[in-house]
Amino acid sequence: MSKKKNFKAESKRMLELMIHSIYTHKEIFLRELISNASDAIDKRYYHALKNEAGGLGRDSFAIDIDIDKNARTLTIADNGCGMTDEELENNLGTIARSGSLQFKSEQEQPDEIDVIGQFGVGFYSAFMVADEITVESLKVGETQGYRWHSNGVDGFTVDPCDKTEIGTVVTLRIKESTEADDFNPFLESHHIQSLVKRYSDYIRYPIRMDIESSVEKPRPADAPEDAPPEWETISERKTVNSMSPLWRKAKSEVQKEEYDSFYQNTFHDGQAPLRTLHASAEGAITYQSLLFIPSSAPYQFYSKDFEKGLRLYASGVMIMEHCKDLLPDCFGFVRGVVDSQDLSLNISREMLQQDKQLKVIAKHIEKKIKNELKDMLENDRETYRTFYDAFGIHLKYALYSSYGMLRELLLDLLQFKTTTQDTPQTFAEYVARMPEGQTAIYYAAGASVEQIKRLPQCERLTDKGIEVLCATEDVDEFLFKMLFMVEEKEIHSITEASELEDASEKQSLEQETKARESLLNSIKTALNGQVEQVILTSRLKSHPVCLSTTGGITLEMERVLAQQPAAAGGSPMKAQRVLELNISHPIYEKLISLQEHAPEQVADYANLLYNQAVLMEGLAIEDPVAFSNAICKLMV
Ligand code: ADP
Repeated sequence: MSKKKNFKAESKRMLELMIHSIYTHKEIFLRELISNASDAIDKRYYHALKNEAGGLGRDSFAIDIDIDKNARTLTIADNGCGMTDEELENNLGTIARSGSLQFKSEQEQPDEIDVIGQFGVGFYSAFMVADEITVESLKVGETQGYRWHSNGVDGFTVDPCDKTEIGTVVTLRIKESTEADDFNPFLESHHIQSLVKRYSDYIRYPIRMDIESSVEKPRPADAPEDAPPEWETISERKTVNSMSPLWRKAKSEVQKEEYDSFYQNTFHDGQAPLRTLHASAEGAITYQSLLFIPSSAPYQFYSKDFEKGLRLYASGVMIMEHCKDLLPDCFGFVRGVVDSQDLSLNISREMLQQDKQLKVIAKHIEKKIKNELKDMLENDRETYRTFYDAFGIHLKYALYSSYGMLRELLLDLLQFKTTTQDTPQTFAEYVARMPEGQTAIYYAAGASVEQIKRLPQCERLTDKGIEVLCATEDVDEFLFKMLFMVEEKEIHSITEASELEDASEKQSLEQETKARESLLNSIKTALNGQVEQVILTSRLKSHPVCLSTTGGITLEMERVLAQQPAAAGGSPMKAQRVLELNISHPIYEKLISLQEHAPEQVADYANLLYNQAVLMEGLAIEDPVAFSNAICKLMV
């Protein structure tokens, strides 16, 4: 037996990292070994095409996985190119990916999870689950096979062995389970099978395993009619992977059902997607993408536990399940797969460059999703409705929290309910309908369209044929304030004071206000600090009063802010309330006459009117009992 050889120093460090790994997705070792096997077959296949005339077809290759529970071994065998003794020593004794260690030493605190999770670490990752590894290999064109053996950091041996078939067999002795780690699933056929499906389904060579299934035994000829069927377990060699990725196929070859079931199985959604975007790009970077717009929000989408991202494959091998960098946050609901032949499985010197490539793909993807949504909005309103019900609020928050940076990307996808239309409308649609003379976009905030329509301020606008956007979601009004101007029109709230009078109305109001100064002062005094101002208005129709605000914080914003966790030390911001009196309402006349003949009653009226205005805003009044008593007093 040959002398034990030491691993190179840096490989040893990587090995130690693997042996003591706390990484939770240890199963990725299988993907790494299968991908090595697939690469080796690629090399042999290529070699055969060139050198073995009439030689091997693609279908002569396979990767075989076997389990021996008693011996606790898991074996992965391929009939790829194989390795010589020298190659075994060099390839498996030194970490092939110098890049990964470079990466690690550049960081002060090497992040194990990152290195393993995002890039795998090739062959060595097998030491996360195995305490002993044997690799037997016969190189194509050679007659002598070799066995590489190691049980950890203290080194490895390479010896001749009598392997007669070209290729490589990797045998892992699976670690004993501990309290913290259960390794036994790696000896369960169905578990290994599901890992193959999950990570390596699209490897182009068959991955074969013995699959057990129950079958009914043939009935003996003399068995009675009603004898219960007898079952037996049989084991059959089967190909576990599907071998052809959907995204590599031409669009014309794939049926909608195939896309849908791929989506539903892969992303665990009970519903078919709203839209499927299948594209293939060639040029600076070659890749295929298969993206889905779900029809409802994924599980936990609106919680911080949700992990967005696309599955990233390098040449058919999944290297990341949630690649965040491929998907902008605002489109975080999109699910899908990106596969590029230009990305390498290895963490390596090309890392930076890869990064750049990912950015290019991400930019394309952002544009594709935007175009798809725009198309849906313009040509398939029904579907967009479903989409918007699920994700509209997400888009609004994304735009709001970008401080307007995503304006161009998202603004034209937004919709709002309005007081005149049955379906939600975009800003552009609203502006296109604006009657002549309307210079601003108007909105009102409230719990529902119905409630907004009943606002006293709405009445005259409706008469004038002015449509009002309904800010029915918490974010809406904040968003409007941030946007400030859309389609060259300012956005104004109808509940902010003195928005809507025209010039001549304004003048006569000013005169009237001067004349009634003492009345307005009495009312304000009677309201005892509840309002900032009492003003006259000509924008109301049938209602005597309304409540509005001044100073930028509206009643709706006050409500939303009050729900936020209180900022340290400060109390939530309050709206400055304004009571508006309708000068063309009989009650206004009544107030004038009270002020002259029974000034002691003005205070009661003021309080009644103020509380009415509060109620019409859909808010609670401070003292309902006092309000009720005041009404009774008036009635008798
Ligand atoms: P990587 O695959 O990223 O190069 P690994 O540590 O997984 O890194 O493998 C190191 C090298 O060992 C490979 O580059 C390959 O040359 C060789 N190798 C690994 N597995 C096999 C195999 N099954 N057949 C032939 N060569 C292999």
